[in-house]
Amino acid sequence: MKMRKTVAAAGITVLALFGTACGKDGSPEAKNPGGTTGGAPGAPGGTGAAKPELPTYTPKQGVALAGSKTFENATKRGKLVVGAKEDQPFLGSKDPATGKYSGFDIEIAKMIAAELGFGPDKIEFKAIASTNRENALVNGDIDYYVGTYSITDKRKEQVSFAGPYYIAGQSLLVRKNESAITGKDTIKGKTVCSAKGSTPLQNLQTNFPDTTTRVFDTYSLCVEALLSNQVDAVSTDDAILKGYAAKDPAALKIAGEPFTTENYGVGLNKDDAVFRGAVSDALDAHEKNGDWKKAYDATLGLSGSAAPAVPALVRY
Ligand code: GLU
Repeated sequence: MKMRKTVAAAGITVLALFGTACGKDGSPEAKNPGGTTGGAPGAPGGTGAAKPELPTYTPKQGVALAGSKTFENATKRGKLVVGAKEDQPFLGSKDPATGKYSGFDIEIAKMIAAELGFGPDKIEFKAIASTNRENALVNGDIDYYVGTYSITDKRKEQVSFAGPYYIAGQSLLVRKNESAITGKDTIKGKTVCSAKGSTPLQNLQTNFPDTTTRVFDTYSLCVEALLSNQVDAVSTDDAILKGYAAKDPAALKIAGEPFTTENYGVGLNKDDAVFRGAVSDALDAHEKNGDWKKAYDATLGLSGSAAPAVPALVRY
């Protein structure tokens, strides 16, 4: 804790704080945002408790998906190309030193890959911002997308989804010393930052006409703007904001309760129903065998919330 406070006080850039490279061994930092007891929140035992471990995945042998163009392309290529976020701590985060991705969404991507016959070493992650997701899927730039992607009817006009595999809700991130913003009913006249092409931005612009929006491609840019007093709050899913707050608890906090429901789905090309069926099966298998919970505890759970119930899959 002492070290983290010093780092924050020294004003090291926001991105450096978010980068998972802060850990000595490249592992994610800030496991213990809440106090000095040494154990990660939710980890049994308190001081000295073992760090929750990630699941390991064994790729299935002899997978065949007749009629799936996506699978055929990946098989020819010898690897999967998966879209993800690179700046969302505990969800999808890229270590700038090693180029390795980590987080809950990344684990979900690996579970799916294993069921399709691809080991984690056969996944190429591609960082794709919120606003570019539909295009990437429509154009076939990626085989699937796992990155805090809400299932919505509007998006379903262009892409399809497997899931939901997690449920989040829009929330607000403010500076630690903020007292005026305490929830969604207190953002009138305030400037709130969100990401282009996201559902939280859409919600702000539609339902909060007296709130000024500031728009960037990524939430980490919004957080930088918040820390440098250019905006009053950042708004997106609580799961994302909790990660930023956990990385910099001396400077940031969550304000109020979530005020929307965001069902996270795996983004898919709309034309490949066979592939969608396989991805749904993969989610189902790894939710049932305990990998989902294990992955949650070792990633998102570290930002301070115990594992929620796994949402029921919706197949269509
Ligand atoms: N879940 C929301 C969305 O899909 C916000 C997070 C994001 O932009 O990835 O738009």
